[in-house]
Amino acid sequence: MNIHEYQGKEILRQYGVAVPNGKVAFTVDEAVKVGKELGSSVSVVKAQIHAGGRGKAGGVKIAKNEEEVRTYAEEILGKTLITHQTGPEGKEVKRLLIEEGCDIKQEYYVGLVLDRATSKVTMMASEEGGTEIEEVAAETPEKIFKEVIDPVTGLMPYQARRLAFNINIPNEYLGKAVKFMMNLYQAFVEKDCSIAEINPLVTTGDGEVLALDAKLNFDDNALFRQKGIVEYRDLDEEDQKEIDASKYDLSYIALDGNIGCMVNGAGLAMATMDIIKHYHGDPANFLDVGGGATAEKVTEAFKIILSDKNVKGIFVNIFGGIMKCDVIADGVVEATKQVGLTIPLVVRLEGTNVKQGKEILADSGLNITTAESMADGAEKIVALVNG
Ligand code: ADP
Ligand code: MG
Repeated sequence: MNIHEYQGKEILRQYGVAVPNGKVAFTVDEAVKVGKELGSSVSVVKAQIHAGGRGKAGGVKIAKNEEEVRTYAEEILGKTLITHQTGPEGKEVKRLLIEEGCDIKQEYYVGLVLDRATSKVTMMASEEGGTEIEEVAAETPEKIFKEVIDPVTGLMPYQARRLAFNINIPNEYLGKAVKFMMNLYQAFVEKDCSIAEINPLVTTGDGEVLALDAKLNFDDNALFRQKGIVEYRDLDEEDQKEIDASKYDLSYIALDGNIGCMVNGAGLAMATMDIIKHYHGDPANFLDVGGGATAEKVTEAFKIILSDKNVKGIFVNIFGGIMKCDVIADGVVEATKQVGLTIPLVVRLEGTNVKQGKEILADSGLNITTAESMADGAEKIVALVNG
């Protein structure tokens, strides 16, 4: 789960990670009021969307007085920001963060991620703050320093010091930078984060070390014990199809292609996407209906696929182990009854109750193309969609 920058900063503040004073605003008047309350000579008006790259896209503006806060708030609120992380359709700005402007000496990067190769949390730091870390990694990888963290001891102060030295944080800021990193790690672990990225972390003219940006992502599997985090969820920022899918406990990710996939099991779902690609098709989604799905769940899953305007054909690829093929068939028939089916549908069923499943589909009167294998099914749906 993803949250907004201002929410991330609220969490960081609780852990003693220094952030500028600031508050969220939902309207222009609120923005001006927050600006007044802050009382700083310079304030920054920042678009709050679940995507980075806002600065370059005009979503971060420095206001030198109250009037400028109003002007920028009017300009940014309601605007659709297109950044390299939003996709070409962009994201509409519905919230602003108004915060104190600070006197930046230098920008750095500090991030925490779970490194799957070592199965450990890793802190990364770089002198190249403000730039996308992917760019730094591609062009000057020697400028990224890493510390792998032992889960038993947690981040050790010597590791934080080593990172701070490596990225050339000046001596007078070292103590604060180390404390910053230690506290950031604490927040990461206690809040079950999957990513904590501070880009930029800055040193300021008045001797502070501050997080100017905060991107926190959380492990969905831990949300059951992170009630406070769940309250930060902003459905406006999420794909409607993914919201619907989460209501029914379906693992669904929307993609850019035009072939909808309904599959059981994450491994089979990945393999299905691969084989569609192999036949030069493009999957419109990843969807795992799970092992013990009911007909109702399958119905909802199928409806979600059909609600995607980009979908030009559907490939149902089921291997019935715990999942029964007749339940899948019932769900498909029910969903098409409810919302209709005007696009090609290819079904490959195998496993438990396959005979009953095939009969249900055959008796449904639906125009279904059956497939004998995964490859056969993928080839058929790609041919049907590409005409
Ligand atoms: P994004 O990563 O989405 O572009 P950031 O929060 O990193 O957004 O802001 C972009 C840039 O704007 C920062 O690198 C920094 O130079 C400047 N900036 C952001 N917040 C402040 C602030 N409070 N005071 C001064 N400059 C800021
Ligand atoms: Mg940033």
